[in-house]
Amino acid sequence: MLIIFGFRVVYFTLDRGVFHCPNCGGDRDYRRRQGRNFFTLFFIPLLPLNRTGPEIAECDTCHGRWTTAVLAVPTSAQLGAMPGTLLRMAVVQVLRSGDVTFPGARERAVEVVRQAGADYDTAALDADLGRSFDDIRVEMARSADTLAPEARENILRAAAEIALLDGPLTFSEEETLNAVGADLALTRVQITGVLSLARESSGH
Ligand SMILES: [Zn+2]
Repeated sequence: MLIIFGFRVVYFTLDRGVFHCPNCGGDRDYRRRQGRNFFTLFFIPLLPLNRTGPEIAECDTCHGRWTTAVLAVPTSAQLGAMPGTLLRMAVVQVLRSGDVTFPGARERAVEVVRQAGADYDTAALDADLGRSFDDIRVEMARSADTLAPEARENILRAAAEIALLDGPLTFSEEETLNAVGADLALTRVQITGVLSLARESSGH
């Protein structure tokens, strides 16, 4: 009798949740999974062997797979909890730092602000871009006090992600994000933490 044996990777689900799927471009259910090599006999996995690779997050909808760093990106629902005005000011400051050259940066900025529940379009963005820098900083400082630290960190995170769309942060983008963080009443440590998470998930 012919014996057929081999090896196969079987994925196990560790837990589930909702994340921002980079491929679908919206909130989707995901499974956090870990692969394990199995010895198979007649195509049936019999003996568990070593674990393979890092844990991954798999989208239930498109079945795209990412490293678990992707889970740190705010979902649309989380963005929805942010006060729109403050987010809008943060995003505008990053865009006007002048280094965001990615063609989709303006559209992404409008989309992020709209997800926060604000009525916003490219015309409104242009109007914001025409406002004075000091004017915007005063408005940010006034609203920042009313928000929980996590909400303020999420706003800086959203602004950093827009700056990271076109590649690594330039000196001027980084300087702007530090100023935005300070206007959001975040500490130096909080700002550094948020920026390094944003860099990690963008791959820059
Ligand atoms: Zn997806």
